[in-house]
Amino acid sequence: KFITFEGIDGAGKSTHLSFVAELLRAHKKTVVVTREPGGTSLGEQLREILLHEKMHLETEALLMFAARREHIAQVIAPALERGDWVISDRFTDATFAYQGGGRKLERAKLEALEQWVHPHLQPDLTLLFDVPLEVARARLDATRTLDKFEQEKADFFAATRAEYLRRASEFPQRFHVIDSTQAISTIQEQLRAIVAGIDA
Ligand code: C5P
Repeated sequence: KFITFEGIDGAGKSTHLSFVAELLRAHKKTVVVTREPGGTSLGEQLREILLHEKMHLETEALLMFAARREHIAQVIAPALERGDWVISDRFTDATFAYQGGGRKLERAKLEALEQWVHPHLQPDLTLLFDVPLEVARARLDATRTLDKFEQEKADFFAATRAEYLRRASEFPQRFHVIDSTQAISTIQEQLRAIVAGIDA
């Protein structure tokens, strides 16, 4: 099974990702944990470039999908073929949300790239960690320095969040929206139930 974790920066997805990985391992699953942008040597190099260099919006989207193509070929597809579970910190929904929603790249172009790069692969489950912008902002400022994307204006994050939520209602069969303002222990109980549901 293929599980993706999504949400705007500061939504708390990384904390919960480790919890779900451990939960599955406790159930004797072999789990591959990976991330985007990144996941391969090429992908990590592209991540550095993507996070720190200014570039044309379409260049950014093309590099995201180039990194993804390699990620699928080297990591995701082989793991799923072995029967392993794959947990990815972000996948294609992030490109729709950030480059599409946040930066206003036409959705049709992203759909074309998705059709090219992974016409058949979709996550079995996408966990969307959703928080109001002020909460996300407060969490980020408290913990670390902001990267290029995170310094952008609040309306960018509002549009990114809105696109995530729009996709969640477009693909309700694989999305679970989690209210990430709740206590960590409450969220963990929800995650336990959701994961038990897809393992059935
Ligand atoms: O998930 P993580 O916080 O590691 O993502 C790193 C950065 O990349 C984030 O600041 C996020 O805003 C940005 N990003 C992006 N477009 C994507 C994926 C991530 O702008 N498609």
